Amino acid sequence: MKLNFKDKKALIRVDFNVPLDKSFNITDDTRIREAIPTIQHILEQGGAVILMSHLGRPLEKLNADGSVNIQKFTLQHLVKHLRKKLKVKIQFADDCVGKQAVKKAAALKPGEVLLLENTRFHAEEEAGDEAFAKKISALGDIYVNDAFGTAHRAHASTTVVAHYFDKAHKTFGFLMEREIENATKAMSTPAKPVTCVTGGSKVSDKIMLLEKFLDYADNILIGGAMAYTFFLAKKGEVGNSLVEADKLKTAVEFLKKARAAGVKVLLPKDSVCGDKFAIDAAVQVCPSNLIPAGWMGLDIGPSAAKSFASVIRKSQTVIWNGPMGVFEIPAFANGTKVVAKACASATKKGAFTMVGGGDSVAAVNQLKLAKKVSFVSTGGGAMLEFMEGKVLPGIKAITG
Ligand code: AMP
Repeated sequence: MKLNFKDKKALIRVDFNVPLDKSFNITDDTRIREAIPTIQHILEQGGAVILMSHLGRPLEKLNADGSVNIQKFTLQHLVKHLRKKLKVKIQFADDCVGKQAVKKAAALKPGEVLLLENTRFHAEEEAGDEAFAKKISALGDIYVNDAFGTAHRAHASTTVVAHYFDKAHKTFGFLMEREIENATKAMSTPAKPVTCVTGGSKVSDKIMLLEKFLDYADNILIGGAMAYTFFLAKKGEVGNSLVEADKLKTAVEFLKKARAAGVKVLLPKDSVCGDKFAIDAAVQVCPSNLIPAGWMGLDIGPSAAKSFASVIRKSQTVIWNGPMGVFEIPAFANGTKVVAKACASATKKGAFTMVGGGDSVAAVNQLKLAKKVSFVSTGGGAMLEFMEGKVLPGIKAITG
């Protein structure tokens, strides 16, 4: 953040979409903690801070009478916690636009913080409404986007608002800067050999990512349910494994493209199979292309895990998106665990390792390995789209 915030009001789009329990206590404050450095930097420079964010999907969960459930979705729930973290009083405006917001923003002094009410209380937010974005923009002197998780959405507060600030008055926050720097480093100038690991449920969700990997990967490791669509496409027997029958051609074509590009694709030779998708499933290890009828592949097998780990440990760059199996169930978590540990050991040997995408991030957190890889992305969908090579509207609105 190169801009000087002294005596300026910074309008910061943060991602405070934190999980809350039934009594509205924050159950995981990661997103708040990650926004703190940007806020503190601006306050220390002598600026004032106006924070805006969405929380949940209030317009999809209206009260029975059609009104917004303010009690459930208000950002008031965050005030106490934010005060504790920032150690300053948090002022609150009960709408992100309108008279009160304007008045409170205008009266804000250097070192003070104002939190605006949930931006998604207005349909104009997700519609990217220009008049609404213009009203928001009038509250601050400088716009700071530090909400990487919503950078793939062209919403009013994440993208459109930036159009009302010139280049000298808009910037990314530290969190956004780090996300962009790390993903760019991994994709544009990676040290070789480069290994891309992908898993999760669907080929259709990840095919664009897989194709992009062909531009720079030496190895692509495919785990998760996705792998069984590939085995089926290769005429294997996959039992009841989760497959996308309409993506067989896509899978075959991808393997052909990879061969032509000289990229090695590894599918899991064996699988940990269950007789049902459940915690009390009976379990057996089978070759992934010979899964008996009535059984389904729910994790990469021990031999596949070993060979995936060995490729990862020999890599200089590793990009990982998506779990290797149903890691939420202990019997099917081993493959993901082995891959996570291999990433940690590659990092220790000097490799650059990046974990991006919701569930693989949850897995490294669960295994307490987040600090043992080079970078863990906070933006699930946004990081996926960034790695697919898409231009994210929230980024373009700042860089032009
Ligand atoms: P995604 O959101 O596409 O990254 O998928 C993540 C989900 O895929 C997780 O909830 C996993 O439990 C699930 N998953 C991973 N491997 C399998 C598998 N072999 N069969 C069914 N679901 C799987």
